Amino acid sequence: MAKSKTNETVVEKQHAKVAKEVQQATKAMESEKTLGGREYIIIPKPADFEKGVKGLKQKQKFQKQLTAKYSKDILEKGYVVTTENYKPNLDKHIIELKDVRKSYITGDLETPVLKGIDVQLDKGDFIVILGPSGSGKTTFLNIISGLDKATEGDVFILGSNLTLLKDSHLTKFRRRTVGFVFQQYNLLTNLTAKENAEVGENLASVKGKGMPIDEIFETIGMKEQMHKYPHQMSGGQQQRVSIARALAKNPDILFADEPTGALDEEMGRKVLEILVKVNREYKTTVIVVTHNPNIAKIANTVIHIRNGVIDKLEHNAHPADPKTIDWS
Ligand code: ADP
Ligand code: MG
Repeated sequence: MAKSKTNETVVEKQHAKVAKEVQQATKAMESEKTLGGREYIIIPKPADFEKGVKGLKQKQKFQKQLTAKYSKDILEKGYVVTTENYKPNLDKHIIELKDVRKSYITGDLETPVLKGIDVQLDKGDFIVILGPSGSGKTTFLNIISGLDKATEGDVFILGSNLTLLKDSHLTKFRRRTVGFVFQQYNLLTNLTAKENAEVGENLASVKGKGMPIDEIFETIGMKEQMHKYPHQMSGGQQQRVSIARALAKNPDILFADEPTGALDEEMGRKVLEILVKVNREYKTTVIVVTHNPNIAKIANTVIHIRNGVIDKLEHNAHPADPKTIDWS
């Protein structure tokens, strides 16, 4: 008897069981297929995950197995793979989340940060994620933009369930489809404004999809500054260049985490005006994270986050002009 049964831990048994369930689910899905031209694969959730950190680790293992199996088909073939037993409406929603959770594990301790997020967002909207410091805004933004991964739940962005993409496919996804603006502008210091924007353009994997750089600098009101280096520009100007860089690949979604956090009022308003203009003129879906309720007034959709859950989702038929909002 080489490996006795007694050596097999409960967890290992669980894992074997999970592997079998993945197999069975795959067979079950063969009959599910095609709905509105998409391949739908609905994975039944194993019912007997344990409680606490142990169960979380089992879930992670299950997620990993599904990732290995489906990541490529999700990204390259547009397969719709769900693990929460429902069908997302991907013709209507550019973003759809189902029971999304994010926890950190240290030793035997689980720290939940996102505690069950359900949300559906429409293409072309100007969305603000609003909430106090520490409420989970950045974690949420990172998960819907493919910078970070949910512990549990489905995260459909432009049809792909990001929860089941492996890291290299997530990188591909980001390159193809999303642009980022951060509080710190992160420009390359030895490149001019124009060259920084060209870096963004070159990252786009679909050639010819990008926007003409000249046109972008026109839009951000910086045609005269195109050949300046970052140290020759104000913070606000640098932030506008970082928007130019994000736009250069003509992203489907533009994500901005506290984009005015380091700017004074005048420059802050200008940056918001540009984001509104991008949303209006290019129909880019824009998602801005802020802790400032005044900034939320410029959005047509506001997601209120508190303590890791969505408190309220508001639609605003008459978004305010960034020129008119209070700034305090
Ligand atoms: P916000 O952007 O709203 O200020 P974050 O999403 O950055 O909030 O953080 C939400 C919570 O998650 C905070 O309590 C933070 O301490 C915690 N958190 C964020 N990242 C980690 C991490 N890597 N490990 C442990 N806890 C984290
Ligand atoms: Mg944050």
